[in-house]
Amino acid sequence: MRICVYCASSDAAPAGFRDAARRLGELLAADGCTVVYGGGSSGSMGALAAGALSRGGEVVGVLPRFMADLEWGWPGKAHAAPLDAQGLRMEQGSAGWRAGPGTAAGGNGTFNMQYVEDMRERKHRLLAGSDAVVALPGGCGTLEELFEAITLKRLGLYFKPIVLLDTDGLFAPLTGYLERLIDARFMNPEHAAMWQRVATPEDVLPAIRATPDWRSDARAYAVPR
Ligand code: AMP
Repeated sequence: MRICVYCASSDAAPAGFRDAARRLGELLAADGCTVVYGGGSSGSMGALAAGALSRGGEVVGVLPRFMADLEWGWPGKAHAAPLDAQGLRMEQGSAGWRAGPGTAAGGNGTFNMQYVEDMRERKHRLLAGSDAVVALPGGCGTLEELFEAITLKRLGLYFKPIVLLDTDGLFAPLTGYLERLIDARFMNPEHAAMWQRVATPEDVLPAIRATPDWRSDARAYAVPR
């Protein structure tokens, strides 16, 4: 499966969020999933990529050129160190960056960076062709990406599972607010099935597998009745 992951750029958030991101990367790679994400080296994004690569996973980063110019892209300074805090040593191969033979976890993953012109193209590339979306706690960038996916699903333009990894309960107020919007009839009750909230990285793949594709008649009830 090709899993689109939205997550934070922040290194200042508590380490538990990066731990969860790294664990998710490990689990997705161990399952044979391709991880598609924003291509960043910092915060949960960097931890996610490091985790997937450490398990021999395939990672695709989609990075706007202006972020590459700012050197925000993987591997970044932390991950480029001979043996970094994540225990990863990187090599550049023909297919892009690879976790080298000296990695702590014996990883042999591949990293392919796709450069795009702007944020809009990045969001499209992240989502297009994905088999599921996973959102981790993050800032406004993560929320924007998540809400685009939910909005497209409501409109019958995206049909795959959207799983919220609720580390430290950070998504609970958000899904509570969405439920209030449903109560107030800004959305229909059916729309609450557009997202699933899970507690741990281990719950993510089972939730994806347990969630059927969104109804093909989504547009029939996109507008509140
Ligand atoms: P946020 O959740 O606000 O940290 O934003 C995460 C998302 O914002 C990423 O998926 C990117 O779209 C973008 N972003 C913000 N800062 C960075 C960064 N330093 N490196 C890469 N992407 C970033």
